[in-house]
Amino acid sequence: MAAKKSSSKKAQKQAVKFAKQHKKAVAIFVCVVLIIIIAAVLFIYLFKPEIFDRALKEYNDYVSQLYNDSPDDDAENVSAKLPNEIQSGDLDSISTSEFSIHFLELGNKYAGDCTLIKCGNTEVLIDAGSRTNSATTISAYVDRYCTDGKLEYVIATHAHQDHIAGFVGKGSGDSKTGILYKYEIGTVIQFAGHNTNSGIYKSYVSAVTYAQTKGAAVYTALQCWNNADGAKRSYDLSEKQDGSLTLNVLYNYYYEHETDDENDYSVCVLLSHTAEGSTSHYLFTGDLEGKGEGYLVDKNELPEVELFKGGHHGSKTSSTDKLLAKIKPKNVAVCCCAGATEYTTNHDNTFPTQAFVDRISKYTANVYLTSLCVDYKGGKFESFNGDIVFYMNDKKLSLWCSNNATLLKDTEWFKNNRTAAAWK
Ligand SMILES: [Zn+2]
Repeated sequence: MAAKKSSSKKAQKQAVKFAKQHKKAVAIFVCVVLIIIIAAVLFIYLFKPEIFDRALKEYNDYVSQLYNDSPDDDAENVSAKLPNEIQSGDLDSISTSEFSIHFLELGNKYAGDCTLIKCGNTEVLIDAGSRTNSATTISAYVDRYCTDGKLEYVIATHAHQDHIAGFVGKGSGDSKTGILYKYEIGTVIQFAGHNTNSGIYKSYVSAVTYAQTKGAAVYTALQCWNNADGAKRSYDLSEKQDGSLTLNVLYNYYYEHETDDENDYSVCVLLSHTAEGSTSHYLFTGDLEGKGEGYLVDKNELPEVELFKGGHHGSKTSSTDKLLAKIKPKNVAVCCCAGATEYTTNHDNTFPTQAFVDRISKYTANVYLTSLCVDYKGGKFESFNGDIVFYMNDKKLSLWCSNNATLLKDTEWFKNNRTAAAWK
């Protein structure tokens, strides 16, 4: 028995020793491989720099394919040099206008979307960002225009907090501030796909279920596109129901395909207004990214647009040349808190990014922004243009902003933080 014990102890010791030696051997092996890789990279860098150049060029080509120049993107063809055709509006005439499109400030330092479209007694609310406390800011604004307590259409573009948190809001029971609790909801059109299972997403699902139990019809954008189950691809918003103002759900490839990028699930809609035989268009793409925009162009007959909600808060990865060359936007509203370091401390990439400015400036100088970050850490922000409202009055598109209607290019912030050759 004693002999057995001592031999098993010996075996254990040997095993531990072997494991230790083995560990050392693996470590030595990894070090040697690393040294060989570093030496090889150094050798190529010093003696074969053309290999580096080629790799860099291929990378740049790949990136430019995604985000930069496209063949039909000729500066001469675009409208940046056209005179500013927008009319200067006033608050009083918005309520009596034929229809109006409002980009709301959200009452905090974060990027986020909330767009109100109003035609007569019909209201459409696209997204309700950016945090749960935005719900009170949003409803205070919406109540100025929505007097019957009913939002006929609510669109949730994708499952990110900065687009759905205001639908949820704060509070409990009857004191819930969320848009989906506070208003009677006609139809909810929501993203067909999502990856996230975040707390805010779950709360959003509960809020949609609540609205549904109160009578709201709930469809995905894919059901709308397919005209399936009572959903429609095109909704008539006009007072006379004569098709003069329609909300059209566009086809997004990612309604029915998976993607790692939540933003690419965004519901995309086109508002179209027809008067005296001519039609003007207004495009909303949520946070759709470059890849999604590529499919959007390929799979839809996109027209040139009067107004484009700047893609993904003015991110460098959206509002790609492929899309812009097609839609040639005359006016652009960006929903962001300019210069906030919410996602990056790289100065060029804070919203609105330098890359966004480079691309959009080739098409128009009529670019407007909601909010301005003063001190991100301190939570200080103020209005940039403020609430931005485009509206149709006397057959002309007018603009009213709650702070001022200064073009982005003429602002102090722009002069200190961005440049644009096309705007000089
Ligand atoms: Zn967003």
